[in-house]
Amino acid sequence: MNCPLTDDSLLNYVDGDLPPAQTTAVQEHLAGCPTCRRRLGALEQADALLREAAREDVSAGLLHSARRALSDETGVGHVSEILTLEEAASFLRIEPGDMDEIAAELPVFELAGRYRVRRSKLLEWVAQRERAQTQARLSGELSRQIASGGA
Ligand SMILES: [Zn+2]
Repeated sequence: MNCPLTDDSLLNYVDGDLPPAQTTAVQEHLAGCPTCRRRLGALEQADALLREAAREDVSAGLLHSARRALSDETGVGHVSEILTLEEAASFLRIEPGDMDEIAAELPVFELAGRYRVRRSKLLEWVAQRERAQTQARLSGELSRQIASGGA
């Protein structure tokens, strides 16, 4: 079946960014299109995975590299919102092989037979991981201070 629903409008629908008339149109299409319901399910699952992933560990080197790429991002031209894993590796300026470590827990989903990730989710994921690492480091320092201060 030939779907009128583009990836972009589906993504905007998931994010609640569509105007009401378009939201209704997407909902009506989804009601009659199992293919798009599967696409939608994959996207929502990716968002759920993202929240899970924020609690896990990832190497500091990868985060550092990703953060460096992101802070340079303003100088870069248009990068599409949906990236294949290869594009994501190139976007983060890490080796494609290093992408394996990240991809295992990234909010990836399958579209047209290839694994992909949303760029905004990639950024969100990096930011969450950074916060988690900072918190872990701070609470480690705090407990050391308490331990040595009490002696
Ligand atoms: Zn459809």
